[in-house]
Amino acid sequence: MAKLPQSEPPFILKVAIAVPLNRLFDYVAHVDTIQTKIEPGSRVEVPFGNGKKIGYVVEICHESDISFDKLKPIERILDEHPLLSSDDLKLIHWASDYYHHPIGEVLSTAFPAALRKGQSGDLQHSQLFYEVTESGLIAQPVDLKRTPKQLQLLTYFQQNHPAVLTETDLADWDKNWRKTLKGLMEKALVKQAVELVKIAEQRTIKPSHSTGKEKNINNPCRVKVPQPNPEQQTAIDCVSKNLGKFAVYLLEGITGSGKTEVYMQIIQSVLDCGQQVLVLVPEINLTPQLEARFRQRFSVAMALFHSNLTDKQRHDAWLRMQKGISSILLGTRSALFTPLKNPGLIILDEEHDSSFKQQEGFRFSARDVAIMRGKLLNIPVLLGSATPSLESLHNANQQRYRHLYLTERAGNAAEPNISLLDIRNKKLNNGLSDVLIDEIRKVLSRKEQVLLFLNRRGFAPTLICHGCGWVARCKHCDANLVIHNHEKRLRCHHCGREQHLLVSCPACKTGELMPLGLGTERVEAALQSIFPDKVLVRLDRDTTQRKGSLERYLSQINEGQADIILGTQMLAKGHHFSDVTLVAIVDVDSGLFSIDYRATERLAQLVVQVSGRAGRAEKKGNVILQTRHPNNPMLNKLIREGYGQYAKVALEERKQASLPPFTYQALLRAHANDRELPFVFLKTVAAIAKTYQNNSIQILGPVPAPMEKRANLHRYQLLLQATNRNILQQCLTRLLNDIENLKVPQKIRWSLDVDPLDLF
Ligand code: ADP
Ligand code: ZN
Ligand code: ZN
Repeated sequence: MAKLPQSEPPFILKVAIAVPLNRLFDYVAHVDTIQTKIEPGSRVEVPFGNGKKIGYVVEICHESDISFDKLKPIERILDEHPLLSSDDLKLIHWASDYYHHPIGEVLSTAFPAALRKGQSGDLQHSQLFYEVTESGLIAQPVDLKRTPKQLQLLTYFQQNHPAVLTETDLADWDKNWRKTLKGLMEKALVKQAVELVKIAEQRTIKPSHSTGKEKNINNPCRVKVPQPNPEQQTAIDCVSKNLGKFAVYLLEGITGSGKTEVYMQIIQSVLDCGQQVLVLVPEINLTPQLEARFRQRFSVAMALFHSNLTDKQRHDAWLRMQKGISSILLGTRSALFTPLKNPGLIILDEEHDSSFKQQEGFRFSARDVAIMRGKLLNIPVLLGSATPSLESLHNANQQRYRHLYLTERAGNAAEPNISLLDIRNKKLNNGLSDVLIDEIRKVLSRKEQVLLFLNRRGFAPTLICHGCGWVARCKHCDANLVIHNHEKRLRCHHCGREQHLLVSCPACKTGELMPLGLGTERVEAALQSIFPDKVLVRLDRDTTQRKGSLERYLSQINEGQADIILGTQMLAKGHHFSDVTLVAIVDVDSGLFSIDYRATERLAQLVVQVSGRAGRAEKKGNVILQTRHPNNPMLNKLIREGYGQYAKVALEERKQASLPPFTYQALLRAHANDRELPFVFLKTVAAIAKTYQNNSIQILGPVPAPMEKRANLHRYQLLLQATNRNILQQCLTRLLNDIENLKVPQKIRWSLDVDPLDLF
């Protein structure tokens, strides 16, 4: 081992690089390269292979296994001050260990693309804050009719009030913002705002309970802060009175019970302490209302971080949180690792949602990592959902989480009435029964909205020959091609392959080709012919692909310009459609029979979430589930006794079957163009695991994946299961080590998924 003198340069830097190798790389930093202090968490540029790469300094020391003269020097240091704190690095280490994923790749997940590519860690704009003045707030469009650009910007300020806007926000609005802003400032309609922390101190909205008054005089909010009901108050107090220490809270509140209001009041207490809040949601463009509600409530700068933004916007948002310029970060799972200068609270809304799990590359659960992050930072983590995951409920039952409840709808809204509609032997018009059609007609005649849910896009999932039974299959996957009637195409939803819609059967040449099964396009066509004078909006991945189209449809619906809303699971997520009084799930049975043991949990969550879209305002809502299994115990339990009671039974079933959350799983997946290779590989791996002779680990498989062939790849899997998390972890460490020593053929790709959500 090469050793260098302590505490003076040259140093040896242990650098993480985003390559699929689970190790650090040693480099040397000479005196001339380090005029400044170098610390872990900084980026460096290093020679790697024949080129250069950006790496992340993880450790600085004086020892290396490689002889000193063979070590290459770093090219340059990118960050004078580290971008990640030691707590951030601890989290990265933990995640890399727990998910057995190369640390360089975990680190590169933590950084936005621009920083990964080596861009500056400084913000481009000096970060001054601007806000609308009193006269700016009441200014009318006529006052600025000669300067339309200024009017536009003033409106932008008014819309965001009381949130302050940073120069980055303004640059996002228009790249020539400076001139327009100057004009508004000269007219005293906009002014520079005081420093952020001071704003938080001065303009704190004291929650009304503390003053006993409905409204604070200095309240800059455009919206009235409602008086929390007793359950909300309990939840708010429980968290707000325990800031500054780690605890996990599970807020289980039925849809419309005021969870968001609880978040906002807790966030306010955190902001009052001058701290930052990280709010994670499943899919941000599905919840534009949340962003607007936050902006109308908080007089601090807010940052957004999700995949619909540009690299530059994400770069800015990340740095604004890192430097403490913005106080709230609202983002998706990719925002999880964003460094926080003054962390105070992490919130995960809709914590049950499977999009918190990254399903490829670095497979991690944003929920579980968020909890670890809260623990390392010693701050509270608040999980919220109307339908908590069985994992979280189990943790709450085990007293690991504090369980908080909101059991009533806030305001005046009543809970919807859910019923099962038996469609056995009933005549169906493209999946719609006469009873359902009548109900829809009644609601439409009252000028209210109907929402129909069907979790399959396209026209029909199968094209079959009436003469010979031939079915259009994908050549590359074990799957049928889906009919897309609008574009007259057949499409594989798994590999993307497509072709023209066939007109005659390629097998018998004479038989008639018919669509089999239901997709949203088909139900749309049926509804349009039944209700020709009604406006229908279809929301699925096909209709919302264009940027901005989803937002347009959502505002069309909210403005009452739609009578029937038809869509896929997009509809289940967080929208408030206040005029919807009838919700129908066209085919609830499709969720009942699945080989995946989590399928009923997902179905129950979906039924409750979709139902929650009904009757959120004053009007009472009805929910109809069409089924051929009206006596199904799960469905009956769910609609009669609610999600909580369903979950109790489901947890008991998991316990009996020794399934998560009562056991811990890891799934090894392997695929190759060749059918044999992945199977043989996993068999070898299973044999190795068996030599450990650890009775507390079950080794199941290898077996073909439920869809064995996808995109021409043959897929196999091996499941490891244990009743103890640590035992499973130890086994995985050993196993991965042994696999590294195997000569795995290049043609095989394999991956490990710790706590898999999908067994496919
Ligand atoms: P959730 O997040 O649980 O779906 P929200 O927080 O969005 O519920 O609340 C639903 C509606 O009820 C919103 O319009 C909200 O402003 C309103 N609301 C929430 N809490 C109260 C309250 N204590 N009093 C009156 N209205 C409330
Ligand atoms: Zn045929
Ligand atoms: Zn395919």
